[in-house]
Amino acid sequence: MDAYIALGSNMGDRELNLLRAVAEIGRLPDCKVTALSSFYETSPVGVTDQPAFYNAVLRLHTAFSPHELLERLLRIETNVFGRARTTHWGPRRIDLDLLLHGAAIISDDRLTVPHPRMSERRFVLQPLCDIAPDLLHPVSGKSIAELLGALTSDETVTRI
Ligand code: ATP
Ligand code: CA
Ligand code: CA
Repeated sequence: MDAYIALGSNMGDRELNLLRAVAEIGRLPDCKVTALSSFYETSPVGVTDQPAFYNAVLRLHTAFSPHELLERLLRIETNVFGRARTTHWGPRRIDLDLLLHGAAIISDDRLTVPHPRMSERRFVLQPLCDIAPDLLHPVSGKSIAELLGALTSDETVTRI
């Protein structure tokens, strides 16, 4: 199964954090990173009193179920990057979000896929479009390129 994971970092060495996360995800059992986007810098809109994020998206070939994969991602956040799950949307060394898992549509108290805010976020759609422009969003049926083209937000996302 192909899963797509969004990576973000706005604390410490942001580029190194993304690289480390890619490596850690690639080391998960029976998982293989099969595509990686460019890295982007995203100026924070709204919450502007924190450093800009670095963002990227990767494709993972995996045998894990959506819940198992989420569990592994949260474990990398905690164990490798020492993330305490306290302040929502605050600065963090790493944030790993499961965007898509095949065509799975799930919404329960632990996991929502497709990620509910992915279609409004340029910092997700831009890197995702690097590696999967023709991929169809399983709920809206629109391609990633279409969703990106339809965005009106003024977020600045710059390739680094
Ligand atoms: P956002 O979801 O808006 O990007 P966030 O990434 O800052 O916000 P977190 O604090 O990292 O939010 O995550 C809160 C919880 O969201 C996680 O503990 C996880 O259980 C849950 N969650 C639900 N769906 C997903 C998903 N698709 N990917 C990652 N986490 C998810
Ligand atoms: Ca997030
Ligand atoms: Ca998250």
